[in-house]
Amino acid sequence: MLDIKWIRNNQALVQTAAARKGVTCHVEELLLVDEKKRELSGQVDQLRAERNRASEQIATYMSQKKSQEAERLKEQVRGWNTQLAVLEAELNTHEARFKDLMLKIPNLVSPNTPIGASDHENVELKVVGTKPAFEFETKDHLQLGEALDMIDVARGVKVAGSRNYYLKGMGLYLHRAVQQLAIDLLTDRGFTVMDVPLMVREETLLNAAFFPAGKDQTYELQADHTWLVGTSEGPLISYYAGEIVDLSEGPIQLAAVSNCFRKEAGSAGRDVRGLYRVHQFAKVEQVILCENREEEAERMMGLITQNAEDLLALLELPYRVVAVCSGDMGAKNYKQFDIETWMPSRGAYGETHSSSSLLDFQARRSNLRYRDKEGVLRYCYTLNNTAVASPRILIPLLENHQQADGSIYLPPALRPYMRGLEAIPAP
Ligand code: AMP
Repeated sequence: MLDIKWIRNNQALVQTAAARKGVTCHVEELLLVDEKKRELSGQVDQLRAERNRASEQIATYMSQKKSQEAERLKEQVRGWNTQLAVLEAELNTHEARFKDLMLKIPNLVSPNTPIGASDHENVELKVVGTKPAFEFETKDHLQLGEALDMIDVARGVKVAGSRNYYLKGMGLYLHRAVQQLAIDLLTDRGFTVMDVPLMVREETLLNAAFFPAGKDQTYELQADHTWLVGTSEGPLISYYAGEIVDLSEGPIQLAAVSNCFRKEAGSAGRDVRGLYRVHQFAKVEQVILCENREEEAERMMGLITQNAEDLLALLELPYRVVAVCSGDMGAKNYKQFDIETWMPSRGAYGETHSSSSLLDFQARRSNLRYRDKEGVLRYCYTLNNTAVASPRILIPLLENHQQADGSIYLPPALRPYMRGLEAIPAP
């Protein structure tokens, strides 16, 4: 959420950011509602103050046995009460509309974000690693997974519908190995690692700015009035919601390992083969709360992106980093980098990680503050990035590391989590 005081003076900037992101919002109406709300609030406060003064005066009259004066004033108070009821109802309506409109205002766009409408306008920042040159006929991850009895999509679909799967044997080990490797790496780098609630209140997803826009992507547990998270970013951001955190020792670095549930509404027909776009997956997510300074946010963006890159280096996978353009990045993001890993069966890089910087957009909604060196309360800046998401990462892992004999090479970093194996043996 942006600061309404700032929006009042920078209407055009907000409109430009929304247009660049392709987000519909109503800044003009917001400002009209804001003005009317403030006017109503002033009237309500004034009437309440007069009523309070009159009540005190009535008490004084009563104690002085001046019942006629007291009755006259009581009559006036009854009139004010009727007026107040009307004004309060009007104020409530305006406050609700104000909140509704505010929640739809997107974040600003950083000055170095490429301006564009779709992922075609994302800008490649760097390319790392060498794509494998195979001298045998390769298989895609699904063919490999089926041959090695690691992945069973057919039964996943039978049991749970489209975009579902089973991971078996070495498939399960690999899925857990990448997550544990990420958890260990982040623990070594000072992150507090957590297991988090996956069924959360609506407020949690509003605070983290997934709602209202992302409701159609989220599974609702209607009977319990809760929602299944699409990422642990929501519960991680909300962990300190409403609190004043201590950043005097540096940023707070949180990470969670969780299952993620996504409806993938609007993705009909896209990436239907294999494990790329599924309804349920696991993710190790990094979340940062830092001081309200852009240089600090930049530094942290570098750090969380580097963590993900280091993991890809440990997995010995070729990848590239792209600056995501305004129209392809989330409405809540100020700046976004994606890491795309080489996927031989696609003959292309595919997104495996997403780093985002949000300034104080989530912190305002979550009332997440810290005291700066001068003791002034400020909203934190927040950032997040994938450390690893599986099973999507199994696609490049299996496809890049397949061997002519049908086995899968395992990089040394994974071996301690793979029962010491150097390769997943050929069938
Ligand atoms: P996001 O939280 O949307 O930034 O996504 C972070 C990462 O989670 C992506 O880069 C993917 O690796 C993974 N991911 C997101 N959506 C899906 C999905 N539907 N199926 C599998 N993996 C996904």
